[in-house]
Amino acid sequence: MSTEEKNTPSNFIRNIIDNDLAENKNNSNVVTRFPPEPNGFLHIGHAKSICLNFGLAQEYSGKCNLRFDDTNPEKEDDIYVKSIKEDVKWLGFDWGDTEYHASDYFEKLYLFAIELIKSGNAYVCSLQGDQIREYRGTLKEPGKNSPYRDRSIEENLDLFEKMRKGEFKDGEHVLRAKIDMSSPNINMRDPIIYRIRNVEHQRTGNEWSIYPMYDFTHCLSDSIEGITHSICTLEFEDHRPLYDWVLDTLNTPCHPQQIEFARLNLEYTVMSKRKLLELVDSDKVNGWDDPRMPTISGMRRRGYTPAAIKEFCERIGVTKKDSSIEMGVLESCIREDLDSAAPRAMAVLDPVKITIENYPEDKEELVIAKNHPNDPEMGTREIPFCREVYIERDDFMEEPPKKYKRLTIGQEVRLRYAYIIKCENVIKDENGNITEIICSYDPETKGGKTQDGRKIKGTIHWVSSRHAENAEIRLYDRLFSIANPDKGEGGYIDNLNSESLNILKNCKLEPMLAESENRDIRYQFERIGYFYRDKISSEESGNLTYNRIVTLRDSWTKAKK
Ligand code: ATP
Ligand code: MG
Repeated sequence: MSTEEKNTPSNFIRNIIDNDLAENKNNSNVVTRFPPEPNGFLHIGHAKSICLNFGLAQEYSGKCNLRFDDTNPEKEDDIYVKSIKEDVKWLGFDWGDTEYHASDYFEKLYLFAIELIKSGNAYVCSLQGDQIREYRGTLKEPGKNSPYRDRSIEENLDLFEKMRKGEFKDGEHVLRAKIDMSSPNINMRDPIIYRIRNVEHQRTGNEWSIYPMYDFTHCLSDSIEGITHSICTLEFEDHRPLYDWVLDTLNTPCHPQQIEFARLNLEYTVMSKRKLLELVDSDKVNGWDDPRMPTISGMRRRGYTPAAIKEFCERIGVTKKDSSIEMGVLESCIREDLDSAAPRAMAVLDPVKITIENYPEDKEELVIAKNHPNDPEMGTREIPFCREVYIERDDFMEEPPKKYKRLTIGQEVRLRYAYIIKCENVIKDENGNITEIICSYDPETKGGKTQDGRKIKGTIHWVSSRHAENAEIRLYDRLFSIANPDKGEGGYIDNLNSESLNILKNCKLEPMLAESENRDIRYQFERIGYFYRDKISSEESGNLTYNRIVTLRDSWTKAKK
């Protein structure tokens, strides 16, 4: 299939694959992989890689493996393995029965290392870490050969076996590839391929005392799995000669092609698991799935949809040029998805009470509201109405500017889907704060239409006070206060936005929003934004809690200008 027929914009990776298919390379198979290290939760940058790898496999009727790159036992944990699988699934991708772990290949990798030693292409080096660094040279100066570089094959085999058996302490020896200490590419200056770590691994337990390094593990895992296109981020470009060297030097099943693309950077956040872990560990956020986090689990909890995240990844495209994407791009994908899909509801975030004097005290009725203004198929619902309703405090002004359309003394306004009311008076407390607004209503205007044709310009939302559900609403802002938190003064932690979470505790919701069967629905609260029930907080605190997913309009870009 050409990209035209697929109706997706082309990119340089699709072009490479199209060419490979035209030449019948790899027997016309496309096999990719997503290779996370299970040392943290996935973030939106990983989503880009997931969409790319799984997306290409889908487009070209190939397959994509999920491979845990678990060669760093100190930092890895099964909790992360679980969360990664949950996140990939939630995004809508399926790895079938191809869940792999680099640790599954430890024995094979060990045999490959032996093969390297036997062919004179690897040696055990007994320099200490800082000496190895010193011998490595710099970008300007070539490195120096290790004094252990010419150990005999027998000695190397013997030492490597002892390393495996756990006969040495951490750091006593390493296994290095014998390449070229004067290579202009530092990665080729006899890179370490195995190190001693006398620690337990979450999957292999205490079976191993040595663990293979990323550069050795990754290319061989790709080859073992028959990967055709090994797609990674740009920082691995300089590692490609080593990727190719290992596969060319060893007798491997196949030689996948490494292709690099620019990683996703998003403004006002950080995108590194190490930094995100630090935020979690230092309680700067409430866990990995804090809705302010750029993690997939945080976005899920906040109410983002898989469709919106996928659309975002498609829209930003795949290039070889580093750039930083504005948060507004992601948010507009969410808005576009929710605008058509989210049913409407009414909620009052900062309530003030209205009493409708001429509405009978004991009367209650139902008014009919559309679930979506442009989609009749989404149907209607009934909302209870009575003499006292809540409106937003800022929908009333005692001294309004000219052309003010909302509620003010002597002026009429429409309560959405209910009646037209007129403000008669306000009641204040001893500090002058308004505690109640007294109104009258026109009984002839049920549904919000006048009988005599008079025009009512303003429409506001409301919730019946007798029927309202109390809720806590959490408004989220940017996690960091500057676009590039790493570049500001101090560390990124110093650039956290202290106002990134605003909890409103006295919100009033229409009753339907508390019903348990509606708990997975993302709503548009009319005139306010998109909201999603936070099931975890609701359960923990016993208070009905909603998260703001996103505002209705992009106030952020405007504010910056
Ligand atoms: P981090 O720097 O956040 O810890 P990582 O690259 O170390 O990320 P891995 O678990 O090794 O994390 O990443 C798995 C895959 O996701 C890799 O192929 C990596 O290239 C890709 N990836 C990671 N971060 C991004 C990003 N910001 N944009 C695109 N792809 C990414
Ligand atoms: Mg990594």
